[in-house]
Amino acid sequence: MTVRNDWSRDEIAALFELPFMDLVFQAQTVHREHFEPNTIQVSTLLSIKTGNCPEDCSYCSQSGHHNTALQAEKKLAVAKVLEAAAEAQRTGSSRFCMGAAWRNPHERDMPYVLELVQGVKAMGMETCMTLGMLTASQAQRLQEAGLDYYNHNLDTSREHYPEIISTRTYDDRLDTLAHVRAAGMKVCSGGIVGLGEQREDRVGLLFELATLPVHPESVPINLLVPVAGTPLGETARLPVLEWIRTIAVARILMPKSYVRLSAGRESLSESDQALAFMAGANSLFYGEKLLTTPNADTGRDEALFATLGLKKEAPRPSVRATAVDAMAPTQSAQPSLPSLNAAEATRVPAACPRRLAGSTPA
Ligand code: SF4
Repeated sequence: MTVRNDWSRDEIAALFELPFMDLVFQAQTVHREHFEPNTIQVSTLLSIKTGNCPEDCSYCSQSGHHNTALQAEKKLAVAKVLEAAAEAQRTGSSRFCMGAAWRNPHERDMPYVLELVQGVKAMGMETCMTLGMLTASQAQRLQEAGLDYYNHNLDTSREHYPEIISTRTYDDRLDTLAHVRAAGMKVCSGGIVGLGEQREDRVGLLFELATLPVHPESVPINLLVPVAGTPLGETARLPVLEWIRTIAVARILMPKSYVRLSAGRESLSESDQALAFMAGANSLFYGEKLLTTPNADTGRDEALFATLGLKKEAPRPSVRATAVDAMAPTQSAQPSLPSLNAAEATRVPAACPRRLAGSTPA
């Protein structure tokens, strides 16, 4: 299957309108063409600097603009971060993600973050950071220190974005993603559903991601965790099946990307999570906390993996090779289901491509 970045909004909207079973079947078929179907990538996320963020993301407990119960904390000591990374590795995480509630790293912070990247990398883990906006020079230095992934979410559609954040623009976010890509790091970028947006905004979010020159290697699809004291604290929850529908469409549009279950997962039943994996999700955060919001219990995750026969993926710490490969035609199919037949293919439109909700750095 050719990986495309010329999807139209109409094509994406048509995928959202498919009958649910047809959509999930197509997503699972695409998934099996690109990934080993019973393997899941597991990451651990640690907040290295919590709260008092100058940005005003309306879902986020860490924004200094909102009155939440969150206790702000200064930068964690390097030794403590490395200790947490070692523990994450011991429990089976292949990637260690470090998040700081900053608008952007200041130059005085750079030696600290570079030391963290070097330390975690030396353990043999994949490294990821989410620190807010980056300059080209900062991105380059992080890459040279060994950073594999940089997370910077688009959050929602370009149209809905002004309802969610006023302190930086959509194009600011795209600029940071471009710096990360130009430096040769892998991009982790997705969004949050359940922000009070319409389906057309979910279409718009996936349109932005799937038409980037190179798809993000990792695409978190978060479900809002409303946090009391934030402007979205009372938002009605999006139906889980609409979240899973969004995951399935992301899988079809970006077939070689890891689609990640992030915030919101702790509230899902085992059956909901199994359905999300069926829809093409193949990555998740492991550990009981996602920066500042609760996450699924680790023991519960292990039991679920055993029940579903899922194996954890080993670390694959390379930087440039996969980044360049993200839009290449499929090479490593592991087909356990047949490819779409002609009738099924017609149901796919013919011209067919920081911070977790409430807490993760954007
Ligand atoms: S999502 Fe990130 S940038 Fe936005 S307020 Fe929270 S910590 Fe700051």
